[in-house]
Amino acid sequence: MSETIGQRPWMTAPETAAVLDALEAAGGPDCARFVGGCVRNTLIGKPVSDIDIATRLTPDAVTAALKAAGLKAVPTGVDHGTVTAVSGGKPYEITTLRRDVATDGRRAVVAFTDDWAEDAQRRDFTLNSLYASRDGSVFDPTGHGCADARAGRIVFVGEAEERVREDYLRILRFFRFFAWYGAGTADAAALEACEALKGDLKTLSAERVSRELLKLLGADDPREAVRLMAASGVLGEVLPAPIDLARFAGLVAIEDDQLFENDPVLRLAALLPDDQVGAVTFAERLRLSNAERDRIAAALAPTPEFKSWMSPREIRRALYRLGAQPFRDRAKLAWARADRSATTPQWRGMIALGEGWTPPAFPLTGEDVIAAGAPKGPMVGQVLREVEDWWVDHDFIDDKLSTIEKLKSVVQGMAF
Ligand code: ATP
Ligand code: MG
Repeated sequence: MSETIGQRPWMTAPETAAVLDALEAAGGPDCARFVGGCVRNTLIGKPVSDIDIATRLTPDAVTAALKAAGLKAVPTGVDHGTVTAVSGGKPYEITTLRRDVATDGRRAVVAFTDDWAEDAQRRDFTLNSLYASRDGSVFDPTGHGCADARAGRIVFVGEAEERVREDYLRILRFFRFFAWYGAGTADAAALEACEALKGDLKTLSAERVSRELLKLLGADDPREAVRLMAASGVLGEVLPAPIDLARFAGLVAIEDDQLFENDPVLRLAALLPDDQVGAVTFAERLRLSNAERDRIAAALAPTPEFKSWMSPREIRRALYRLGAQPFRDRAKLAWARADRSATTPQWRGMIALGEGWTPPAFPLTGEDVIAAGAPKGPMVGQVLREVEDWWVDHDFIDDKLSTIEKLKSVVQGMAF
């Protein structure tokens, strides 16, 4: 029996229709179908994030068809047959039907085809080899895609080991899709292939690895996928040892709460050893952005140590010293490692306090120090820091006069 997903709003939206109209004007009805995640997710009732399209048209014909319709065409992956259309400000990845003819495990050499079933054979998993026409009819050339999607089975199209040898990124994709859509026990043949070929992950570009890893970690509950990756040694190929599975699991449990969003970068930090220098090296090797690298390093700073029983004053002090994001990250990582059953209200309170309080600005400047009698030079900064420490220890005392009194006594006590 053939399946249908009906005509969903994302399929009939004017910007989507404009892309299909453009392609059909050049290639006739049904020359293009939705493919991959958008079909899979609609079938299983999950939200659709991006729309991928497969077509019989060659990339040149796609480009010409889009341009003729006044749509922008960006050659995002010409060597594998992908042109990205921009319609209504949204990107649509349009890939020509293809079969892989050769591969070195990192990049496939492709030949185009007009056979949907052949195209399905070069895709990674059965649940990703699903196509839908604009009228909502679903095509499942492997014959297992719909059933596997519904059952949460992540199964390679064809022989697992062979498919992994064609593209080692599929090892990480296997765990990514298991994290997002898997249910029950993971496919044994797939796991075995991933484990056997994990050493070849090293040959992949850092960008492909980090993008896939962060997507995996963004799943609602990637704990089982990550546990399997660790057990099979796959995780050890991409992360430095020792991997902190307990802290990671704790963090995911905290984020289970409606209060927090899934945070893939912090989850990555949670998995890393408590070693800031090592974390920076790792982030740079993986080509994470500077902001992500700095955030991970700050989250793993050794001091101040966060405890569930910190007083409001200590919390304010930590917040002032660290800044809002590192404070929140450090609190969550410490909470993730703590006995959550006993201390949840304290950690929640700490984070709420952090969110509800903006540290005041330190009221003195170098000019105040000089006015109090200190000579210009390096001493100024030293005095300023000492008074600032006092001000923080006095819980950001909102009294400029007594802060100036303190400044005077520090200046008087110094030997210039
Ligand atoms: P998402 O919802 O994350 O976008 P997706 O299934 O659309 O999920 P993409 O990475 O956007 O995943 O890829 C689109 C489709 O292209 C996949 O569904 C799959 O059919 C195919 N594909 C992508 N990468 C590979 C790969 N490395 N090997 C084989 N097929 C792939
Ligand atoms: Mg996609």
